[in-house]
Amino acid sequence: MSNVPDLCSLSQDELKSYLVELGEPGFRAKQVFSWLHQKKAAGFEEMSNLPKSLREKLAERASLPGLKREVVQVSKTDGTQKYLFSLPDGNMIESVLMRYSYGNSVCISSQVGCRMGCRFCASTVDGLARNLTAGEMLAQVYEIEKELGERISNVVVMGSGEPMDNYDNVVRFIRLLSDKDGLNISQRSITVSTCGLVPEICRFAEEELQVTLALSLHAADDATRQQLMPIANRYALSDVLDACAYYFEKTGRRVSFEYSLVAGVNDTPEEAKKLIALLRRRKGHVNLIPVNPVVERSLKEPSLAAIHRFRDALECAGINVTIRKEMGRDIDGACGQLRRRYRDKKEQGNSKEE
Ligand code: SAH
Repeated sequence: MSNVPDLCSLSQDELKSYLVELGEPGFRAKQVFSWLHQKKAAGFEEMSNLPKSLREKLAERASLPGLKREVVQVSKTDGTQKYLFSLPDGNMIESVLMRYSYGNSVCISSQVGCRMGCRFCASTVDGLARNLTAGEMLAQVYEIEKELGERISNVVVMGSGEPMDNYDNVVRFIRLLSDKDGLNISQRSITVSTCGLVPEICRFAEEELQVTLALSLHAADDATRQQLMPIANRYALSDVLDACAYYFEKTGRRVSFEYSLVAGVNDTPEEAKKLIALLRRRKGHVNLIPVNPVVERSLKEPSLAAIHRFRDALECAGINVTIRKEMGRDIDGACGQLRRRYRDKKEQGNSKEE
């Protein structure tokens, strides 16, 4: 393991093997782990209880995720903050801080871009650039917590990227984020949202994790779902829902369903009826997200009346439903929008904003 790209991605055991390989005593692992994951050190020189020789050795041979804050946009309406970070290879990622009465929640990206191609989503317009490492996912939470000076209590993997398409790194990220010697965020306060990769959902069910799984459902039949999400051509809705039922069976955690409402496509009373029929026997919460129109896409947001009509229909049928609180719409709230806009601006030669 002499070529370590990113020390922050290693478990405590792996870190120990790495340090022993460097000729260091094993007990240093706990110290380094704490510097990385509790004190959120930005560089090895900060690790003041390590011998200077070790700090120098690490600076030479290992690396840290190296996220650099480029832009922070603060919503004037609800205090939501959207961060744009650059990575050492020049790629950019977005994360969002949402402030709720129950605590601070951070929404992180799991990939640079995305290759799932959902029709309403800005993250996918240029496809996938690369996967993020576990350390790069953690660094989004750490950087925001450091800047805020307050504890982050919830993390949602709902930013750019498809977490199940970066499976190993996402599972590693969850284990590190909930490590008692790290930030120690309860797994029950972590949500992973997927467009529905069936084999990975089943594998995820067997990891013995306690995280909440959210499925991007977006339609109640295969044909409508295929119109919105190319992945629906690969997996039938019944198989996706069976995989979610398996997740519930293995973990005891109820799956929640996301449903982005698009005018004229999936917001009609007939669609509500189909959704009720589909979910009646499957317990689980439905989160309605009025589509956030993306410049590159032609989809329209339903009227408020249509949104409420849809919610009321589900509620009357005894389905647990909420309309996702609109957060940060005034600051390019939807996945991938800030990154695209910033890059377009830069290409036109405009200066940074802050
Ligand atoms: N790849 C994961 C995470 C995506 S983002 C997934 O598919 O679940 C989290 C949610 O926001 C998903 O349900 C996604 O479909 C939805 N979403 C993305 N862009 C949107 C937009 N412009 N308007 C409304 N919902 C959007």
